[in-house]
Amino acid sequence: MIAITLPDGSVKHFEAGITPMEVAKSISEGFARNVISASFNDVTIETSTALTEDGNLILYTWNNDEGKKAFWHSSAHILAQALEELYPGIKLTIGPAIENGFYYDVDFGDKTITEKDLKEVEDKMLSIARGKHEFTMRESSKEDALDYYKKQGNEYKVELIENLEDGTITFCDHDTFTDLCRGGHIPNTGIVKAIKLTNIAGAYWRGDEKNTQLTRIYGISFPKQKDLTEYLQLLEEAKKRDHRKLGRELELFTFSQKVGQGLPLWLPKGAALRERLENFLKKAQKKAGYEMVISPHIGQKELYVTSGHYAKYGADSFQPIKTPSEGEEFLLKPMNCPHHCEIFNSSAWSYKDLPKRFAEFGTVYRYEQSGELHGLTRVRGFTQDDAHIFCTPDQLDGEFKKVIDLVLYVFGSLGFENFYTQVSLRDPNKPEKYIGSLENWEKAERAIIDAAESKGLDYKVEYGEAAFYGPKLDFMVKDALGRSWQLGTIQVDYNLPERFELEYKGSDNEMHRPVMIHRAPFGSMERFVAILLEHTGGNFPLWLTPQQVSILSLSEKYEKYSQKVLDLLENDEIRALVDHRNETIGKKIREAEMNKIPYMLIVGEQEEKDGMVSVRKHGEGDLGTMTPESFSELIRQETKKESKEFIV
Ligand SMILES: [Zn+2]
Ligand SMILES: [Zn+2]
Repeated sequence: MIAITLPDGSVKHFEAGITPMEVAKSISEGFARNVISASFNDVTIETSTALTEDGNLILYTWNNDEGKKAFWHSSAHILAQALEELYPGIKLTIGPAIENGFYYDVDFGDKTITEKDLKEVEDKMLSIARGKHEFTMRESSKEDALDYYKKQGNEYKVELIENLEDGTITFCDHDTFTDLCRGGHIPNTGIVKAIKLTNIAGAYWRGDEKNTQLTRIYGISFPKQKDLTEYLQLLEEAKKRDHRKLGRELELFTFSQKVGQGLPLWLPKGAALRERLENFLKKAQKKAGYEMVISPHIGQKELYVTSGHYAKYGADSFQPIKTPSEGEEFLLKPMNCPHHCEIFNSSAWSYKDLPKRFAEFGTVYRYEQSGELHGLTRVRGFTQDDAHIFCTPDQLDGEFKKVIDLVLYVFGSLGFENFYTQVSLRDPNKPEKYIGSLENWEKAERAIIDAAESKGLDYKVEYGEAAFYGPKLDFMVKDALGRSWQLGTIQVDYNLPERFELEYKGSDNEMHRPVMIHRAPFGSMERFVAILLEHTGGNFPLWLTPQQVSILSLSEKYEKYSQKVLDLLENDEIRALVDHRNETIGKKIREAEMNKIPYMLIVGEQEEKDGMVSVRKHGEGDLGTMTPESFSELIRQETKKESKEFIV
């Protein structure tokens, strides 16, 4: 008998050789019907794998990430089979599951495939799926595996196998199809009920531009047709909310080939939006005891050699700027931290002066590959809402909690209510990978968990995910469409204080190294605005939106009255504009709606006579008439409700 421990801690005894699916059936037939994947002692296995020893078994359904992974991984096998049947002679390379679906990279040789061929592939996949073919794993010697692919002339699989150790090589078979595979499948193809191939793209073998360009086919699959329909609706909605499209429509930012790829140009409305975001954070930071600093956009190469950033970014980034002075070299700054370390180094500090919290909206430059650039989310120059806290090891705990408060305040004010966090700690089995004393690491890791705990955060701990220089806490935000974005990182750092020889005088009169915390609640202004655009669909909170009110006059006869209303609103610091154009009121309303102006005030003969305005709210319609003063009060109340003060 073997003892199987289930996630709820219960232990069940079975004959050795029982499979995860049989264990599922022993729990309930209904549950077993939903089980599609399993892991045993943290290793992904098949639901048909015989269990021969004691251990922890987790059974996954479609509702688990692991279940989805097995589902999409298996779907990639079905895609590969369909492609092989439709395009004999092609060479398969790799085909993993990804966050949303799967892909397969294929060398089509002299054959071509285009978007319009995808429907045929989908149909083929569905007909294979309907065959309910079981996925079965089979071990192979390296020699046999090499032989199999050499005969096919598939140099890609040969290369993959050559890098594997003999004794670890397995194949997966289903129906007439075989693929090199490590395992982790759903029980049979029949569980896949709905398939959509979403995109075709080019991809280099092993991601290297020097290698052959392959064709990457992306797809997604579901256990129910209904799930696919919902997913496609979500995609439609995501397209509407694409920040590149909204940024253009709302005149927030643009790009110019002349200026250069990945270098955003902020238009007046975008700049105003960004300034408001910056001021919002500055105000909260001031309350939280931060001091603003400013550092230049370039620094001597040596600075980044000292910080280690040159080793990390140097060769693959913007190259040094030379000057007329022989041997003098500057770099565009890839990070603000080295500059802030030198600001710290400019004075002598005692423990009584700490913590020092230096904040800067600092623009940094990193050379992203042109294929990686994407709107405002991947750019080559961006402004971080950066700050570095220099504190004693004992202050770390308190400082960490304060940073969490600030991040939560930012999320709350901008409508990001759905988020979770990840605590990244050392791999306890590899202490040599990390710098800094064991004592400090333990202190820092405890401080982070303690802070997450006391702030009531929904957090998961990942061992081995910490940077070599310190543990960190990441915030993952879910937007209105349920997509996850990483926003806000709080990172402890023992490395830079060492490299820059930072010190302070302790109460013992000895010199000590401070601990450094890097943090950026927005991440970068560019990326944050992009996420905010996609989250809100361009309907920013009233306190933040560039233009709050549009005054629409029925004709030029009411220009004077419109101006009077505008003056009153501006006097109350409400951001409004008058639409004087000689257009119909219907057109003016439509355009204001399109531009996502939260409020429209319609003024005509009756309104002027009564000293009133007719109020329309974006997306809601008519709110009736009121005096300009009571409208102003309405705006004031709504803004106040949205933007709470930061309380330290
Ligand atoms: Zn597989
Ligand atoms: Zn930093």
